[in-house]
Amino acid sequence: MRANLFAPILIACLAVAGPARASSAAVDEYLLAVTHDLPPVAKEALQRIDGPPRQLLAVRGYIRADRQLTARWSWSAQEIRAYEASDEYRELLASIDAVRARFETQNPGYSLYANTTARSLDQQLQRWNSNPSVGVIAALLQQAALRELSGKDYPAHPDAKATLRFANFLREWRPTPAAPPLASPGLSLHGRSRAIDFQIVQNGRIIAPTEVAKVRSAWEDQGWARKLATAMRGTRFVGPLQSPNEPWHYEYAPGARE
Ligand SMILES: [Zn+2]
Repeated sequence: MRANLFAPILIACLAVAGPARASSAAVDEYLLAVTHDLPPVAKEALQRIDGPPRQLLAVRGYIRADRQLTARWSWSAQEIRAYEASDEYRELLASIDAVRARFETQNPGYSLYANTTARSLDQQLQRWNSNPSVGVIAALLQQAALRELSGKDYPAHPDAKATLRFANFLREWRPTPAAPPLASPGLSLHGRSRAIDFQIVQNGRIIAPTEVAKVRSAWEDQGWARKLATAMRGTRFVGPLQSPNEPWHYEYAPGARE
């Protein structure tokens, strides 16, 4: 008998929760639909991403990469090993050495550290699944997707036209205030050694690390962003990355004139 007293309350709660659950399921269904035409490498990577919001944000990157996706896709462990035996890799190391030597001359007592190992897909997935900023931006995208699907006349189940429309929504969506701190897994320029992160070292200790929280205090206020940029002038390194603001991240153009 007592349970019956609560039945109306339970029904009321379900009525409130009902539409939200349905919308979230709709996002999942549209996510699946836009995933359908992605290249196999991207589909496989998606299966290793935790939860629909982070998957949705990754798919946005895959859609934006469009036909470049396969050409940009990160190297396998075997491809990384082959690269590390190549002349191109030796040229990369020589370019980094030249930048470091110049930086040390311009800034006595300080040096540069650069990780020259390409960032594997496994590492990119691990970062994507654990990075808090990616989580925050993914949740924003999930909410925007819910609004997109409930605010406009999307069919309950995605047809070809509605799938295309949702894909366009993902492509055009811009997070505020900043872009995700990581590329979608598989698409990092670090995955093919086309980007290098530089850190400032003093007495063997990193004093300006690759941390978003240190951009202001270490890189800007102490001038390291500017000093690193000065050492980069006229080299094969282009940058730094502006969005998001990463003063340590430079793109590398192999074969460019120094
Ligand atoms: Zn980087």
